[in-house]
Amino acid sequence: MDRQLTLMAVHAHPDDEVISTGGILARYSDEGIRTVLVTCTNGEQGDGPGGVKPGDPGHDDEAVARQRLEELRESVAHLGIDHLELLGYRDSGMDGWEGNEHGAAFANVPVETAAAKLVALMEHYRPDVVVTYDETGGGGYGHPDHVQAHRVAVAAAEASGIPAKFYYTAIPRSGVKQMFEGMRASGVDFGDFEPSDDFGTPDELVTSMIDVSPYVERKLKALQAHESQGENIFLLRMPEEAQHQVFSHEAFIRVSCRVEAPDHEDDLFAGLR
Ligand SMILES: [Zn+2]
Repeated sequence: MDRQLTLMAVHAHPDDEVISTGGILARYSDEGIRTVLVTCTNGEQGDGPGGVKPGDPGHDDEAVARQRLEELRESVAHLGIDHLELLGYRDSGMDGWEGNEHGAAFANVPVETAAAKLVALMEHYRPDVVVTYDETGGGGYGHPDHVQAHRVAVAAAEASGIPAKFYYTAIPRSGVKQMFEGMRASGVDFGDFEPSDDFGTPDELVTSMIDVSPYVERKLKALQAHESQGENIFLLRMPEEAQHQVFSHEAFIRVSCRVEAPDHEDDLFAGLR
């Protein structure tokens, strides 16, 4: 093969790259595959210094975005990602937040406008594999920016016709409930996040399970780089053993595939090398 294989992950906010795709980004980088992270928003609706919440007095959107983009660069370095591309949209905030109303919020940008930017990046990098969220924003998460990232990535993949394999991140339902019960028992605080019974991806939809166990430490370091959002990242407060269990595999739903690959695979590049 005379051309370097390329993986592109499309995410909504600084910090989203780690939990669902940090392992594959690190692993495939190590294997000589070019890795590209596209982060759609600047994370303005994150916590400010001292844990100031968005909408509260003293929350400075610009300062929060600056800090989060700095943290993102550190995370990218831990994961060995070759290229970071920022679409630069404004964070919309969680569903129901005041930030949803902002005219420039990513979720309010016409899909075709943002998709055109992503098409240009796909034409530049020619990714063989593209990974993003499912239509619920990732196993039922529902954050408006994640849902929008999904729409934009799907539109760009279709318009460009470039990715040979296209995937959604998955959180297999089996084990999710058990994991949350275990964490609650060990006193982990989930903040605003309360998983419902149908949280996660039905197991039968998962096509691709990738072993990233050698990269758990690097994922943890990358997650820790997003220090300003630490209060919202409950996985950081999990017992170490549980962290290893959760971080050692990354699951995906293969949505389209233009090469020969097994129905159930342990490599996103199966059929491409
Ligand atoms: Zn996010």
